[in-house]
Amino acid sequence: MQLIMLGAPGAGKGTQAKKIAEKYNIPHISTGDIFRANIKNGTELGKKAKTYMDQGLLVPDELVVDLVADRLQQEDAKAGYVLDGFPRTIPQAESLDAALAKMGTKIDYAIDVEVPDENIINRMSGRRACVKCGATYHLEYAKPKADGVCDMCGESLILRDDDQPETVKKRLGVYHDQTQPLIDYYSGQNVLKEVDGTKDMNEVFADIVAILGE
Ligand code: ADP
Ligand code: ADP
Ligand code: ZN
Repeated sequence: MQLIMLGAPGAGKGTQAKKIAEKYNIPHISTGDIFRANIKNGTELGKKAKTYMDQGLLVPDELVVDLVADRLQQEDAKAGYVLDGFPRTIPQAESLDAALAKMGTKIDYAIDVEVPDENIINRMSGRRACVKCGATYHLEYAKPKADGVCDMCGESLILRDDDQPETVKKRLGVYHDQTQPLIDYYSGQNVLKEVDGTKDMNEVFADIVAILGE
């Protein structure tokens, strides 16, 4: 099963992608997590990506396209994957299609998690992230067992720099300009499935399972 998650920043793509990965036993591939790991480890890629991410801008296509194509060639991705945060532009989607065509395969579904802009700022200001293992929490809707500590690995949780309200507004603008056109792109390929992301996270997941099958 080869899936793409679409939706605004904070719509719940990562939350749902993790549940999908677990249920269907496929890797969750998040380009945001890959960049954050590179920033944490001080790599060249991390240094380049950080200047864009801190401003709420997209990292240039050429820094992300080959990275994902390489990741999809790895052994664990043979049985499928759920891509979260990629593609984010039409050129990224086109290069993904080209890379998949070379491998003799294609995307099965693009799942669009729909949440209006009004709900996003609240979602993001309550989001807390673990930079060590990529787990995500919410102060109200997905509380960690102990305040400020990751359930999975014990690391301290942070409010991401790019989750400050001013940067979130900018990211929403970037989403509407550059990423939302992918909805028509995948609709044109007859693989688009839309779910209501304003529901409780378990209900959203049940709607996704109804699409993908048990
Ligand atoms: P969110 O899940 O909240 O939308 P991500 O973790 O997916 O955030 O991404 C954080 C930032 O990383 C983005 O704002 C962008 O700067 C960068 N980024 C992640 N994926 C991509 C991509 N496919 N293309 C360009 N930039 C990306
Ligand atoms: P994205 O990957 O699309 O940026 P996340 O999965 O990180 O979004 O979710 C953003 C924030 O909203 C997180 O703090 C998460 O715990 C919370 N969240 C995710 N889905 C829901 C939901 N259905 N209802 C309420 N909060 C949610
Ligand atoms: Zn953790």
